[in-house]
Amino acid sequence: MSERGSARQGICILGATGSIGASTLDVLARHPERFRVVALTANSKVEQLVDLCRRFQPELAAIGEAGQTAALAEALRAAGLRTAAVGGADGLVQAVRLAGVDTVVAAIVGAAGLNATLAAARAGRRLLLANKEAIVCAGALLIEAVRSGGASLLPVDSEHNAIHQCLAAARDASHAVRRLILTASGGPFLRRTDLAGVTPEQACAHPKWNMGRKISVDSATLMNKGLEVIEASWLFGFEPDRIDVVIHPQSVVHSMVEFVDGSVLAQMGTPDMRTPIAYALGFPERIASGSPWLDLLQAGPLQFEPPNQDQFPCLGLAYQALRAGSAACITLNAANEVAVDSFLQRELPFARIPAVIQEVLAGFKAAAPDSIEAVVELDRAARRQARSVLTKSTWTY
Ligand code: NAD
Ligand code: MG
Repeated sequence: MSERGSARQGICILGATGSIGASTLDVLARHPERFRVVALTANSKVEQLVDLCRRFQPELAAIGEAGQTAALAEALRAAGLRTAAVGGADGLVQAVRLAGVDTVVAAIVGAAGLNATLAAARAGRRLLLANKEAIVCAGALLIEAVRSGGASLLPVDSEHNAIHQCLAAARDASHAVRRLILTASGGPFLRRTDLAGVTPEQACAHPKWNMGRKISVDSATLMNKGLEVIEASWLFGFEPDRIDVVIHPQSVVHSMVEFVDGSVLAQMGTPDMRTPIAYALGFPERIASGSPWLDLLQAGPLQFEPPNQDQFPCLGLAYQALRAGSAACITLNAANEVAVDSFLQRELPFARIPAVIQEVLAGFKAAAPDSIEAVVELDRAARRQARSVLTKSTWTY
């Protein structure tokens, strides 16, 4: 991998126009001698993507919606840029496979990112994973693709990034570690006892983190932590019984590892995604991120408490799916994506999100998928099922 003075590390960002995309570009812009932006992708926001191309001059820009490819090409030409335009699912794959791409930042939201993330692993790229839904849906396939493709996998999700940092203290994690402890802020409704009438604006107003809308709602239901338990299980090879969750409203401790000798290591910092992103981009070196310094004297007392699983059943549903196997995890994720989308459209009430997921999970039985096509098929079937649960139910928003 590139070092100072030699070739710069070539970067492709899947989901460059999103929240993780923006934080990544902010870190990259601080280290022009180290990194070169080679490819950027977005789903549909042509103008925003072209603005990024103006700033970072990549060789290739890919737009997920194939129908927008011509508009992207035209806008790049009009801007006088030499960036080539591609589109559709193939365009995203082309971006990760482009010669000169060393590192792929997988920051598309949802199972929609699975195909391109997997392609990056197969192409042997250094894969910086933010797109947790990809590993929740296809953990075994993704880990195997990383291995057979000669890729490497570094977690960007702050909890997993924290655990990655803490595990550096163990020579053999499977024997040295007793359990992983994921911290959760508790989201905007931690102290709210009645979840009736919650609006998308309230659900997306996270007290500590500034993120995309889908993950913000997941944080409010605690499904985000549930998906992260599944993510941790695949990334670090731990059974669900050895992964615990504690609520830590200050979001200073990003997660912990408990060792067999009783030591507990924690990684701390301000809640700013540029820190885990910079860790993953620079690894094994440390590079500046632009995050504010942590002032423990200002952070106030650090509190830890158990999650309220009656109020927030999504966490328990995720543990249940993890124990049941990969088909259940795909079903859980798909039902959640459909339910969250419906909530954001002001159709499904916030408090009904867990019930929809539970109903889809209960009615779903399928063998563990052994190919990406089988994963996609199962994901589609679970989405159909979730939509039918939504249409047959009645409620007042
Ligand atoms: P976001 O909504 O801000 O951005 C999503 C990006 O994905 C956008 O660039 C969008 O154009 C692209 N995209 C969406 N649907 C697509 C599709 N069908 N095809 C191609 N591209 C598509 O989301 P975000 O908050 O940046 O989160 C991205 C991922 O990172 C999620 O999986 C999330 O769980 C994870 N993550 C985010 C944070 C955070 O702080 N935002 C922290 C940890 C993990
Ligand atoms: Mg996280």
